[in-house]
Amino acid sequence: MQQTLIDWFDQNKRDLPWRNTTPWGVMVSEFMLQQTPVKRVLPVWEQWLTQWPTPADLAAAKRSDVITAWGRLGYPRRAIRLHECAKVISEQFNNEIPRTLEELRGLPGIGEYTSAAICAFAFNQPTLVLDVNIRRLFARYYDGVETSSTSPSQYERKIRYELIPDQGAQWAAATMEFGALICTARNPACDSCPIAQSCAWRDAGYPASEIVKKSQAWAGTDRQCRGVVVQALREKKTLTRSKLLVLWHNDEQLDKALKTLLADGLIETTGKSYKLAD
Ligand code: SF4
Repeated sequence: MQQTLIDWFDQNKRDLPWRNTTPWGVMVSEFMLQQTPVKRVLPVWEQWLTQWPTPADLAAAKRSDVITAWGRLGYPRRAIRLHECAKVISEQFNNEIPRTLEELRGLPGIGEYTSAAICAFAFNQPTLVLDVNIRRLFARYYDGVETSSTSPSQYERKIRYELIPDQGAQWAAATMEFGALICTARNPACDSCPIAQSCAWRDAGYPASEIVKKSQAWAGTDRQCRGVVVQALREKKTLTRSKLLVLWHNDEQLDKALKTLLADGLIETTGKSYKLAD
């Protein structure tokens, strides 16, 4: 199974720019891809690396410019964490991306998945990378179930770790790409799957999973309200609450969005008006 998927990857992988870039480029891509699809990330990633080709370049930028450059990728707290991360790397790591899981985990905004992915994709290390695509593929192929649990257990980590072959970094990239392109959440391409003959889920007749994942509603949510405020401040620079209320009529929800955006350090206020944080 391992060699088949690595061979499949060699022949079918998408030509994504972060497959052939600096460790900093990998780190930026991992922050951006956490909750945003590849297609939307591509132009922003290109622009970002042109504007800030090293951590020190980003570290020297104004926070408001960083939030503006994040564009419509969503969850802009990631931009602030990446900015903070760049400051630590430029000040404490001589502008070099750390190479160990422990050092990476000590940086702002970097958790278990991101540290493992950076070690694998930037430094070719055989770390255990478990993203949603990889976990779904393994759940189907090995366990015979449609979807994985909400988050990996210690047992899951242990048995997936034992699967890592010598080409560990390639294994992570291959399984991730296979889950994204072939063993997809809906309508997996089982007819063109090179490991279909030994897939436990297929063998069991594709039983439906009992795990119902929460759908991410968007319209009318607090998250949409936050997005409207940040986008308006990107365009207009400064706005009063009453101007923002024209864009979002629910004043209770608007006040909540302003409060959380202030707490997250994404915006600032003079008391009368609001702007992106500098
Ligand atoms: S046969 Fe279908 S479900 Fe099984 S691993 Fe291949 S694509 Fe996924």
